[in-house]
Amino acid sequence: MELPDSEIVALPGGPARVAWRRSARARRVSLRIDPRDGAVIVTLPMRASRRAGLSLLTSHADWVSARIEALPGAVKLADGEILPLHGVPHRIAHVPGGRGGAWVAEGEIRVSGEAEFRARRVTDLLRREARRSLGEIVAVKAGQAGVRPARITVKDTRTRWGSCAANGNLAFSWRLVMAPPYVQDYVAAHEVAHLRHMNHGAHFWALVAELTPHRDAARVWLRDSGPLLLRVG
Ligand SMILES: [Zn+2]
Repeated sequence: MELPDSEIVALPGGPARVAWRRSARARRVSLRIDPRDGAVIVTLPMRASRRAGLSLLTSHADWVSARIEALPGAVKLADGEILPLHGVPHRIAHVPGGRGGAWVAEGEIRVSGEAEFRARRVTDLLRREARRSLGEIVAVKAGQAGVRPARITVKDTRTRWGSCAANGNLAFSWRLVMAPPYVQDYVAAHEVAHLRHMNHGAHFWALVAELTPHRDAARVWLRDSGPLLLRVG
């Protein structure tokens, strides 16, 4: 099997983007972390398989997770952190007093209540907003495509941004709510198109093209910036 350039691999400590490299000079499989984006670069000798790389990754999963965690730029859902919402930076601002909750106002994500519950409240807000936003986009696209999704849910999927089940249920990663609207538009269009075509054939892509003009740009964005969304929270 041909080696993908990169892929998201679920490790026990969280997801990691793995960038595969072939090297004629390498004698053995090796790992290093790219400090710019937290990708795990796995170098394979010419004859080594992807499975050998995954095996080394799994046996060093704690080390990999610790190194990624230690990189600057992992966004914690804490007071003062900057988080994108629909692609626009929002500062998380703690509002003292009041009942516990989180809401969006004046370019801020405001959260009240005790410190230990704030991250959870921000996540809940993002999940609600993801459900609302993706639900709206799906409704429009489904109308255009003449299909009806059964149920729409948001999850913390780590390896896929969206999915379409055989029974017509659509699921999306809540993390997409941080991505720019055109990226959400593409992912929604992609899953709605699967309600007609459960494959990635020519008819499928033709329908995607009818439903969104953003396919190429969104795929580039997800490849380059998607892994950062996985580092939030
Ligand atoms: Zn697909």
